[in-house]
Amino acid sequence: MPFVTVAAVSRGNLVDSADRRWRAIGEARPDLEPALALQRQLLTLVIDLAGTLARGPLPKLSLPPRYLAAKLTRGVPVLAGEPIPVPVPILAPALLRLCEALANGGAGAAATHIRQAIESGSIEPGSLLIASLGRDQAAMRTGAVHRGLAPDLVWLVAELAVSPFVHALQHMVFAHRGPGELQSALEAWNRGYCPACGSWPAVAEAVSGHRTLRCSFCSSAWEPTTYACIYCEERGEAFVTAAPNEERKDRRVEVCSSCNGYLKTVDVPELSPFPLLSISDIESTDLDVAAMEHGYARPALKDFGARKG
Ligand SMILES: [Zn+2]
Ligand SMILES: [Zn+2]
Repeated sequence: MPFVTVAAVSRGNLVDSADRRWRAIGEARPDLEPALALQRQLLTLVIDLAGTLARGPLPKLSLPPRYLAAKLTRGVPVLAGEPIPVPVPILAPALLRLCEALANGGAGAAATHIRQAIESGSIEPGSLLIASLGRDQAAMRTGAVHRGLAPDLVWLVAELAVSPFVHALQHMVFAHRGPGELQSALEAWNRGYCPACGSWPAVAEAVSGHRTLRCSFCSSAWEPTTYACIYCEERGEAFVTAAPNEERKDRRVEVCSSCNGYLKTVDVPELSPFPLLSISDIESTDLDVAAMEHGYARPALKDFGARKG
């Protein structure tokens, strides 16, 4: 089944499972300890934010299944271009806390400057959150550079704060679909980018041989039916899957010399529930290094045109 619904997990189980995985990574890779400590702080904030969002209603979206099915059939992710009201009063305080965690966890003054820009009103939290939800990297970059802020860090802070909201949105739109056009369109989704938000996957998680792409933003899970480059659909000799470490065939990279893209693929016992996918990502940073050393890169976000409204 190409689209996979990842079961929700209680907060306690989520934290236990995350702790187990962080401990295992820390034992294998002591050099990653500082990065893991920071990730623990960031993910705890995201988990708590998801809990707060779960207690309130999500915005009512007028997105009929037939309309969404038609979008998917055209290759357009369901949330792309939709004017979605973002719960700014809930998400904005999280932006500040994320900046603080980043400032203490290694990003230093660059993160403090972002917090100050939000507190002083130089950055309007609503615009930042909407730009992130709309995946508008160009607008965010321009805004950050204009204010002398580190664009990648601004992007990360906003993405972390919006991620529980977009995760809940994709769940709301997809999880309760009945049989019908939306279900069929999702089943037919064979693209490399996310059918909900349009982001590229952070990683492919393979469970019992099922290569499942996991969205780097909203954590959607989908399984392409063809074995090809997820970026350019190359399936000839230019597309190669390799394990950089001979002893660890469970950790691979798919590389494509047609588009120079790469994708990490890791065997896991089960798909990571939101927001623990970033643990699979940090656990496999050596694969990023190996791919980048050979000149491969992750492509820029796809652009699905201007937002409506
Ligand atoms: Zn997504
Ligand atoms: Zn390619």
